[in-house]
Amino acid sequence: MVLINKVLHGLPEKVIFCKKCVMSNQRPNSVVEFKNTGEEKKPTIYFGEDNICSACKYKEVKENDIDWKERKSELKTLCNKFRSRNGSYDVIIPGSGGKDSVMVSHLLKNEYNMNPLTVTWAPHTYTEIGWQNFQNWINSGFDNLLNTPNGLVHRILTRIAFINLCHPFQPFIIGQRMTGPKFAALYKVPLVVYGEHPAEYGDRVDEAFSPKMKEKYFILESSLENLILGGMPAKKIISDYNLKLSDMNPYIPVNPDLLKEVQVEVHHISYYLQWDPQENYYHAVEKGGFKSNTERTQGTYSKYSSIDDKLDPLHYFTTLIKFGIGRATYDAAQEIRNEKIDREEGVALVKKYDQEFPSKYFSEMLKYMDITEEKFWEVIDKNRSPHLWEKRFGKWNLINQVSQDE
Ligand SMILES: [Zn+2]
Repeated sequence: MVLINKVLHGLPEKVIFCKKCVMSNQRPNSVVEFKNTGEEKKPTIYFGEDNICSACKYKEVKENDIDWKERKSELKTLCNKFRSRNGSYDVIIPGSGGKDSVMVSHLLKNEYNMNPLTVTWAPHTYTEIGWQNFQNWINSGFDNLLNTPNGLVHRILTRIAFINLCHPFQPFIIGQRMTGPKFAALYKVPLVVYGEHPAEYGDRVDEAFSPKMKEKYFILESSLENLILGGMPAKKIISDYNLKLSDMNPYIPVNPDLLKEVQVEVHHISYYLQWDPQENYYHAVEKGGFKSNTERTQGTYSKYSSIDDKLDPLHYFTTLIKFGIGRATYDAAQEIRNEKIDREEGVALVKKYDQEFPSKYFSEMLKYMDITEEKFWEVIDKNRSPHLWEKRFGKWNLINQVSQDE
């Protein structure tokens, strides 16, 4: 019998794990989500012939080829260029009050003497610790605009994105990328500073040598006509769900004319300084009253990253299903690169936690998306690519798993 191993999501057919970290070559790069129809072949992380992933290669570039003193002085020059002289806001810092945005905002305010306006695109559903940290951030000295999308519409979009793309987190990602430039244009504050560049995770490494984010990630010509949400044209969603055009406002990319008028520039702070999530955590605890969770997040071993949204663990469960990469793999790969753990520990942590089911908020998130448990598993099983998953004795197993001898 000839087995036809169909590959879903346009992933590489042969699974390879990085020799240095625990990432596999199935990791998709970020896409322009508001053009994502679910039909495109997904671009994935680059692996060299030596089976080392581009994130680990970029780490070497950071260590050996970048002059960080020079980069620091570039940050000073940038701040000098934009610093306000009349007390008005001079930098927009998008963030949630998680460890990274707390670090960036304190750094720019206290060490570079800027006047930040922090802006937050609300999580789907706040966790208790996420809300506390958000409040701690504001109370540690920042003005903040909390941008919460219409819950009815956001839930519909989350549901559609889950059913069509197995990507329930998509509405959040869309808003998060746009929030900075949008508020910059609205408040006429031209400088926006985000945290890390995706090159930290091996994505768009070639773009990491420029401090500015390319406009294609937040600009769309002729707005609604080309807008795709959850793999569906926005216009069809409006008619199918009896919504209004204005209900789509939070998801419509920024008007290019307005951005030009304000001369908005979007930068990543990781261009200017060595990005290290654990160091950000220590900084955030010390300066911003940031608190880690009392228990680890399901699907991983960590307690302090991405802990503010109840949908987050489910998001990583969908990446496990689609790409064979769960939350522990993302966490361990990053920590190996930043020399917090070694590869052996990383492999053990992935084996222990990566496939753990996110049961804690599961029923609540099904209700949030208005999806039955039966429908949930139907979508999940449909998205298991046969080159990654096999069913044995009624149980799904990942065919390729990271091991010590890669
Ligand atoms: Zn690697």
